[in-house]
Amino acid sequence: MKKFNHLTLCLEIMGCNQKCKHCYIPDNKNKFKPLKDVKLILDKYSEVLSITEKPRIYLHDEPTLYPEIIELLIYTSKKGIKPVPTLSTNGVGFVKRDNWKDIISAFIDNGVKGLNMSLFGNKDYHDKFAGFKGSYKIIREAAKRAKALGLWIHWNLFLTKDNIDQMLSLYKELPDKSKVLSIPGSTNKWIKWDNIHITDKEINLITKTPEKYFYSQKFPKSKSLYIKSENEWIEMCLKGQNMKKYLENEEDSDYKSMCLMEQDYNIFDMTFNQIFKVGNLLKDSLKELYLNEKCSRGLTEFNNSDPAILAKKYGDKNNNKVYYFENIMQTWLLKHLNINEGL
Ligand code: SF4
Repeated sequence: MKKFNHLTLCLEIMGCNQKCKHCYIPDNKNKFKPLKDVKLILDKYSEVLSITEKPRIYLHDEPTLYPEIIELLIYTSKKGIKPVPTLSTNGVGFVKRDNWKDIISAFIDNGVKGLNMSLFGNKDYHDKFAGFKGSYKIIREAAKRAKALGLWIHWNLFLTKDNIDQMLSLYKELPDKSKVLSIPGSTNKWIKWDNIHITDKEINLITKTPEKYFYSQKFPKSKSLYIKSENEWIEMCLKGQNMKKYLENEEDSDYKSMCLMEQDYNIFDMTFNQIFKVGNLLKDSLKELYLNEKCSRGLTEFNNSDPAILAKKYGDKNNNKVYYFENIMQTWLLKHLNINEGL
């Protein structure tokens, strides 16, 4: 039996046309990788075929903009690697590029089943949040085009302090079944936009049945809403409640997967938070990195932390901003880790 069910490499191939306020990519970052370099990385990554049933690749930033995306997808498949079945995109290439139909078909032919798309409010608010004029119109049009060719669409509707009404209208208006209200994860950039983070009071104004709108990757819908204010998390931690269940997927205990994220050729052990570096794509063997299940000091500390101690040391009892428990632990750790260490 192979060691892992799935392995994923989040690979940077392109910058992004947008500058979303919650994004894990620092602004003004445009890291284009020529196809020949991407091919070399895929050759190297294909060494993991012996340790996993499914090596997968997540093309991050904005993959539809990559000039040779069709060739890249074909090469990926030839190597026995598949893109993750849901492509996260703002769809710009599906609208702005002449060969958009061929690009969508190439994603479908190589295993992509649906798109993961994000909206931040009505047209004006969305464009401002995304830092790209015309973004709202492009995303809606890209979704239409992709659906017409056979992809399904999932919508993430990210809540801020200022967009609640807009989001509820959007939730009702969007024709697709798969849609959720969400709060941004705690990236380095989003932490700085503290002035527009939503509070529990504001979330409670939305509806008396928030479970209808939110979902959790960890819990089935029937369980109570798992996003809470920092204050509520602190109370729970200090009472010694078992917090592990908020971090683990109990339903899939036999399932073993691992994901590493590459940025600037550095490899990080936390997806979408380039804090804990575990290796370098140019120097290290990807297979070894996965096999050793290499964790940085930060991640080990994160996993072994006693939530009650963290809450006591770093929790801000007065904060009623809303978080996922996973995010709040990261935020607490960020308060005492030197994040540049090891970079
Ligand atoms: S579209 Fe995605 S990758 Fe681009 S800036 Fe927004 S969140 Fe980041």
